[in-house]
Amino acid sequence: MTVAKTANPIDMSAYWIPYTPNRYFHQNPKVMESAKGAYYFDNHGRKLFDGLSGLWCSPLGHGDPRIGAAIQKQYETMDYCPAFQMASEATFTLASRIVDMAPAGLDKVFFTNSGSEAVDTALKMAVAYHRCMGNASRFRMIGRERAYHGVGIGGISVGGIVANRKAFANMMMNGVDHLPHTFNLSQMAFSKGQPTWGAHLADELENIVTLHDANTIAAVILEPVQGSTGVLVPPQGYLQKIRDICTKHGILLIFDEVITGFGRLGTNFGADLFGVTPDMIIFAKAITNGVIPMGGVIVRGDIYDAIMAQGGQEQTIEFFHGYTYSGHPIPTAAAHAVLDIFESDNLVNRAKALEPVLENSLHALKGKTGLLDIRNCGLSGAVDLVPIAGKPGLRAMKTLEACIKRGALVRITNDTIAVGPPFISTPAEVEFLVSVLSDAIDDAMKLG
Ligand code: PMP
Repeated sequence: MTVAKTANPIDMSAYWIPYTPNRYFHQNPKVMESAKGAYYFDNHGRKLFDGLSGLWCSPLGHGDPRIGAAIQKQYETMDYCPAFQMASEATFTLASRIVDMAPAGLDKVFFTNSGSEAVDTALKMAVAYHRCMGNASRFRMIGRERAYHGVGIGGISVGGIVANRKAFANMMMNGVDHLPHTFNLSQMAFSKGQPTWGAHLADELENIVTLHDANTIAAVILEPVQGSTGVLVPPQGYLQKIRDICTKHGILLIFDEVITGFGRLGTNFGADLFGVTPDMIIFAKAITNGVIPMGGVIVRGDIYDAIMAQGGQEQTIEFFHGYTYSGHPIPTAAAHAVLDIFESDNLVNRAKALEPVLENSLHALKGKTGLLDIRNCGLSGAVDLVPIAGKPGLRAMKTLEACIKRGALVRITNDTIAVGPPFISTPAEVEFLVSVLSDAIDDAMKLG
């Protein structure tokens, strides 16, 4: 299988492309050649506005020389340091910087290499904490329908994407329940920001607690805004209710902020925007601007203290968990450079300032043929499209292809299109992205 390139054809036979219909891709390959600022350049010579900041992970756009210089310098100084009985100084200072950005009380950082690993880490921390507090029976986890928590066995177990769960049903973790998702088109179609309907759906948590007994439940995990399944914004009051019920029953609350962390909602974390503080925050993606993998968990100080209290002997490892590349010096250097740029270029505020531009231009599409819903929160938004009869997902696929022909990249999931432009975008670029999307939907609607 080859694809024509200007100089040489690309041999596509060996690469198993993740999360992509491989056979269809081989017929319609999308090959990127370079990236700079808010744009990708593909092998047809097209300049494509990066309407999803990579995969939600590149808020600073691409090729910022300050990140490259930091990586190069670190490589020359120390290219690796084991995450085992030793650490580099920059890893300590990075943890402190992240704690300074996080809500008060979240005082410790554990580094991983990805969101999926951070999810599994947080679930294990929750169980370890309860065991250390004398509650070894608390092992059950509660996730939500339509949640995405990565692809580890823990993540797909607490996640609520049916296709993901069905494929590996026999590998699922024991003791997991799911809260209903909060998306209801008949109540909230075309709502801006947080829908007013749906806070009562949090009451289902009380029912699950009654069913199993609070003393068996370790944690609730949720994305403040469900990103991968289409920017599903929590109803007003919903997250606070979940927080209150967790606190009442001694259940830990974990926010998976892999997408929402580091400014995507116009605040450092979703926890800040919604005014609800969880017991742990999972992060990844934007911490290194997607340049190099890194993830992690920010944890309440007393959770750490409780687990450490089980140590005591010089040779006792309190939490038997970690990765060869936890706190690796090179992603650590990249993350420092990214946080420097966030500060010097005031990027969270830039994201916040662009929010109304995205909101207004997206909602101006209301009334257009083929649209079932429009929603937005911070610098992220989504539209749902009328599916092509008998071929779920094809309308969105055709819309993506039309977007590429017209000069922008968007993200598809089923028949939903998500956008999340880089924070460095200009207002005109955000409007361009939505106008490309609008025309691409028209193109895709011609297919019936
Ligand atoms: N959690 C959430 C909320 C995510 O959006 C993602 C990735 N899109 C993950 C976890 C998994 O992250 P990774 O792909 O880095 O493992």
